Amino acid sequence: MIYLDNAGTTKMFDECVAVHQDFSCNKFYNPSAMSIKSSEISKQILETEKFFLNKLGTSQGNILFTSCATESNNLAIKGSLRSGNYEYVFSCGEHASVYNTARKIELDGKIVHFVPLTKEGVVDLEALEKVLNERTRLISVIHVSNETGAINDLIKISSLKNKLCPKSILHVDGVQGFMKIPFALRDTSIDLYSFSAHKLHGPKGIAGLYVKNKSSLKELFEGGGQQYELRSGTENVSGIMQFKKAIELIDINKNLQHTLELKNRFNKQLNESGIQIVDFNGSPYIECLMFDGVKGETMLHALESKGVIVGLGSACSSKKLGNRVLEQIGFPLNKIISSIRISFNAYMEFEEVEMAAKIICDVYKDIKQRVQK
Ligand code: PLP
Repeated sequence: MIYLDNAGTTKMFDECVAVHQDFSCNKFYNPSAMSIKSSEISKQILETEKFFLNKLGTSQGNILFTSCATESNNLAIKGSLRSGNYEYVFSCGEHASVYNTARKIELDGKIVHFVPLTKEGVVDLEALEKVLNERTRLISVIHVSNETGAINDLIKISSLKNKLCPKSILHVDGVQGFMKIPFALRDTSIDLYSFSAHKLHGPKGIAGLYVKNKSSLKELFEGGGQQYELRSGTENVSGIMQFKKAIELIDINKNLQHTLELKNRFNKQLNESGIQIVDFNGSPYIECLMFDGVKGETMLHALESKGVIVGLGSACSSKKLGNRVLEQIGFPLNKIISSIRISFNAYMEFEEVEMAAKIICDVYKDIKQRVQK
């Protein structure tokens, strides 16, 4: 089986299993309890926070550990809401966990602006500039599009914030960017940054939210006040430690180079097949393919029967018809319906992706011939 849906989730590193065993069966203590054993765990969580801050390219701020990036995004947005005449700004290219939260707060009466995307799939900076003002409370943009791989310019977005609404909060959904695309928080004005372990060969059920200034955020649910009174509930200690282990094993630059080569070789195989590659020169980890006259869903099932697993847009939204992000970029519905998402991981072999590309070409040719008969 060749798995090309790594933006949906990734295979966990084997090394995480031993960490899970250790922190669930040996060092299982509650980090908030009073025993020496517990305070050792609490200390390890603090060290892990520093580890993540360092990986994010900053020494300032804190990390809240959450159950998934959907929770991180909800906490970032809902925890930033304030009463009053404030405005909230989102891009049209957001993942459902941000986009649907934005829709919800709009329904609840907040003033919400959605900024369009350019033809290259990134936030339209001119449109963003027009919408930002001194009433802007929150700007929320995706780092790397989970649909297309397009990368937003976080430095330019930061300078717009600094120029037009320096007191606002800048939240970035970094799920497809963290540990894949090199960047450093210290070069930006980002206040909140979400990331998730299961996209990075860590376990499901653990994610993070970087918080530059704790006073900018309010907790979403009451409880014992763990994690700086911002995210109550006993920490998922084993998850946190497994997440750290996964990140320790990732060499971001080496992986980027390898994945770039994977994508080049994959795309080269598709040449002259009539398959349209939607590649915005963004993240090499993600791209879209469009099959003239054949539905993406048909391709997905036919490919699975030949041993290749691909994605159909975001895993969270793929059961709904169409694709909001591709539509925003300006693709017509017939193209959107004919699309699949390809996402690589950095540990694939070149031969594997070349083989997958060949199977995709053969399956497409075969279905097309049958459709035309
Ligand atoms: N944000 C982006 C960009 C994603 O790709 C995803 C998952 O597909 C999420 C958020 C949600 O992540 P999680 O599955 O950890 O809730």
